[in-house]
Amino acid sequence: MTKSVHHWIGGKTVEGTSGNWGPVTDPATGAVTTQVALASVEEVDAAVAAAKDAFATWGNSSLAQRTTILFKFRALLDANRDAIAELIVAEHGKVHSDALGEVARGLEIVDLACGITTQLKGELSTQVSNRVDVASIRQPVGVVAGITPFNFPAMVPMWMFPIAIATGNTFILKPSEKDPSPSLKIAELLAEAGLPDGVFNVVHGDKVAVDRLLEHPDVSAVSFVGSTPIARYIHTTASANGKRVQALGGAKNHMLVLPDADLDAAADAAVSAAYGSAGERCMAISAVVAVGAIGDELVQKIRERAEKIKIGPGNDPTSEMGPLITAVHRDKVASYVHGAADEGCEVVLDGSAYTYEGAGHENGHWIGLSLLDHVPTSAKAYQDEIFGPVLCVLRAETYEEGLALINASPFGNGTAIFTRDGGAARRFQLEVQAGMVGVNVPIPVPVGYHSFGGWKDSLFGDHHIYGNDGIHFYTRGKVVTTRWPDPADGPTGVDLGFPRNH
Ligand code: NAD
Repeated sequence: MTKSVHHWIGGKTVEGTSGNWGPVTDPATGAVTTQVALASVEEVDAAVAAAKDAFATWGNSSLAQRTTILFKFRALLDANRDAIAELIVAEHGKVHSDALGEVARGLEIVDLACGITTQLKGELSTQVSNRVDVASIRQPVGVVAGITPFNFPAMVPMWMFPIAIATGNTFILKPSEKDPSPSLKIAELLAEAGLPDGVFNVVHGDKVAVDRLLEHPDVSAVSFVGSTPIARYIHTTASANGKRVQALGGAKNHMLVLPDADLDAAADAAVSAAYGSAGERCMAISAVVAVGAIGDELVQKIRERAEKIKIGPGNDPTSEMGPLITAVHRDKVASYVHGAADEGCEVVLDGSAYTYEGAGHENGHWIGLSLLDHVPTSAKAYQDEIFGPVLCVLRAETYEEGLALINASPFGNGTAIFTRDGGAARRFQLEVQAGMVGVNVPIPVPVGYHSFGGWKDSLFGDHHIYGNDGIHFYTRGKVVTTRWPDPADGPTGVDLGFPRNH
């Protein structure tokens, strides 16, 4: 063990006292490099108490104070892109350039939060009745919690806390215990930017910490991003405890390729979106649906490109794809490839036995790229979210058949259509059952000022994350009706009738 990761509560590091620790592994070597403190109920309670204390003043802080701090934080984040990316690479395993992309997309939400002043202006109607004005305002909800997955240890927390704190809430982050360090770097930068103690807290932990956040009476809202079974559990439990909740789950994202598409561009996009970050992205394309007679040519083009991808440690600038998060996950991903032929798939590329040869990396969580063709919808490789570098290709005779196949999936996160036909693309936008649609764009992650979220089993709750939905989620509405009577109006008098506007 070279390093211990502790909690961040009330503006400082607080050592874990539960006696429970989780191992953090360098995926490229398989070595346990770090131990992370797993919070007890009492430690979560301490973080909630710190956040509640801080809310008493932060909830009433001026917009000028909040945005001054957020602009400073943005500058610090910008200056520390590489440092954060290095922490991501060391614990997640993705390649450095990909980690920088994650930081850049998180920074977009900080940009949105820096401009919160225009979003919180509210609405005013004057003279709705005689001498009566009505104002709608939005106020923070209080202490809010964010529970985040391993695959974007910097970006996903940044989908949440910049908006939560800009709108006047205080925040408790429970990051993934698999790659906890980037969250602490972010906490330090927020403190350096001048954020008051207790406004942003980090508790590390597992189910014990999560369950305490879900039941704690002083937590008003919970944002969750992770797998579908846990998202469903979080939504049910937090809702039953009276909390506002948004819970984003897993995915199986389809790319529909029509016969008129530019097949080279479609193959480039499929390979980038399926194998980037070793497939450990909730917006990864994991199923390509080839329509009409183009299937064989498209698969050939995908294969040629996939065979050239260079796999290696994330800190080697020549690597394009890194290892998977854990050895257990690597073995699970490989099992889908091993079972594919028996389930009726044609195994075009089998990367399950790949291992990186570099010295010291023998025990890394390596896996190569796999490509399965003619995948039946009954195959487990199609039905499950594999979350690894395995791309399934399915065949459909027509647009309608392809669309029906996509819409039958229980997931509805992202999807894409590749075509030169504007009419078909327009139909697809309107007819597909998914929250985010790309037209010749394989990973349609919305920019920060639009909202991110899926449909069906990919999101539980009625708010998408960040953008206007995020601002709504972290604020509650209040409507103020005001009359300033004028003596010239004469006496008001008693009237038991329901008030009407004149
Ligand atoms: P996960 O569901 O295992 O863990 C997510 C969080 O929940 C972690 O903080 C973890 O500690 C906690 N957790 C795990 N098990 C729990 C339990 N039984 N009770 C309470 N809390 C628990 O997800 P992961 O493996 O870290 O991340 C990968 C998953 O996240 C994939 O399914 C991926 O699609 C999904 N994801 C979705 C989005 C999206 O926007 N929809 C974005 C990123 C990742």
